[in-house]
Formats: sequence, structure tokens, C-alpha cells
Amino acid sequence: MEIGERRIPFKNESIMSEKKEMLYEGKAKQVFATENPDEVVVRYKDDATAFNAQKRGQFDRKGELNNAISTLIFGYLADNGIPTHFIAKLDDREQLVKKVDIIPLEIVVRNYVAGSMAQRLGVEEGIKSPVTIFDLCFKRDDLGDPLINDHHAVFLGAASYAELAEMYALTDKINKLLIDLFDKANVILVDFKIELGKTADGKMVLADEISPDTCRLWDKDTKKKLDKDRFRRDLGEITEAYVEIFNRLQKALAK
Ligand code: UDP
Repeated sequence: MEIGERRIPFKNESIMSEKKEMLYEGKAKQVFATENPDEVVVRYKDDATAFNAQKRGQFDRKGELNNAISTLIFGYLADNGIPTHFIAKLDDREQLVKKVDIIPLEIVVRNYVAGSMAQRLGVEEGIKSPVTIFDLCFKRDDLGDPLINDHHAVFLGAASYAELAEMYALTDKINKLLIDLFDKANVILVDFKIELGKTADGKMVLADEISPDTCRLWDKDTKKKLDKDRFRRDLGEITEAYVEIFNRLQKALAK
């Protein structure tokens, strides 16, 4: 398998990607400064965590696969008018991205019921929702990223009502585009999480990653889970599932 080509959407831009000091280390990624104050390098690790980091592990080629898959998805979204932080894939594990201030909110989009929503509301997993559901979570590891509402977000100073409206509108567009893309790959997009950020000039852009770590993806015919639930629930064949998603996306995008 060939894992993601280097993709350079901004053709006239010189790539100043020499890595300098590490700015931040998260559960699955590291972020490094570059010579350009407006750009950072993101490095994908093989570490996997779940349930607010209570479950930890590593699996083969995870970093490489998430980098490749997220590159395909961000490229597709950018081609369809979504502003993103993505600049280029640098190598197996690294991407060059615009430096952003991450809005400290996670938006979870649910097309089908699964995971914490199934548990919280006592609803069976796998039911298709007649409406698109947006969950807002406050990004605070020490609190377990609690589910909040718009008023809490404004109270916390995380976003204004106008920014929330812009966030939901952008998220809705992203959801429609992703449903379409995964449908072409014979995959149901059950739910996913995104993070948005603001660039130095104040523009709201899609940031972080979109990968099987941050989505629930089920095969349309067999309903086989092709995402991080294989790790969370000890289902095995984790790397195989991520490879399957990469291959199917590459094929869908070539159509
Ligand atoms: N998710 C994520 N990061 C988080 C929490 C959730 O990427 O910190 C994704 C998760 O992979 C799933 C969706 O958001 O695709 C909904 O997750 P849920 O709230 O059901 O929580 P979970 O069951 O993952 O604890």
C-alpha cells in the first residue's frame, strides 16, 4: 500500500518546515515550532488512549495511518470550500499546518446514536437520528471534557453566540461533505468530533485531525466497526481497519 502522497495545495508557497522546539505534546500528537511563526509541524504518534486516557496502548502504524487519512480528508474538504489549517503532508508522520488558537470546544456531530450518547440517554446504538445532533464539549482534560450548552460556552468565554453560529454552520457543511465522501467508500459516518481554531488574522478554520480516531465509521453492508472502537472495545484488527479506511477513501477520491 502506498500511504498518502505529499499534498501541497498552496502551490506558490515555500515550505519552511524545519522543526524547532516542541510547543505541546498531547495524547496522540506533538506540535513543533518552525522558522515561520504562523506555521507549526504536527507529528502523529502511535499512542492510543480512550476513556479520558484511562485506557492506554499503542498500535502499529497508527500515526502514519492517521496522518495519511487526515491528509486525504482535509484535502477533500479544502477542495470543497472548507477553510482548514492544513498546508502539506511532510512525511509519514508529519504535517505542516497553520498555527491557530484552538477554540476550547469540541463539536461532536451525531448522525447515528452510539457511544456516550447511547449510554447517557439509554438508547440503542445504531439508530439513525432523524435530525443531525451537535454536542458541545468543553476541552478540559481534568474535567473529562464535559458536555455543555451554548450558554455555558459563552459564560466560559470559549466563544460568542455569533461565533457559535459560525461554528455550527461550518460543522454542518463539513458533516454533509463527509457523509458524501464516506458513502462513496461504502461507509456509514456514525459520528465524529472536530475542533476549530482561529488563525493569526482571525479567520475560523477546521483544525486538529479527522481520522478513525475521531470518527465512528461502520461498513455499510456488514456494520463492521472500522474505527477506534476496535481499540476501545478490544475488538482486534485495529491496524487493518485503519488501512481499510485509507484504501477506501483513496479509491473514493479517485472516482
Ligand atoms: N471523540 C473524539 N475525541 C473525544 C471524544 C469523542 O474524537 O475526546 C469522537 C469519538 O471518536 C466519536 C465521537 O467523537 O467518533 C463521539 O464520541 P462519544 O461522545 O460517543 O464518546 P466516546 O464513546 O468516544 O467516549
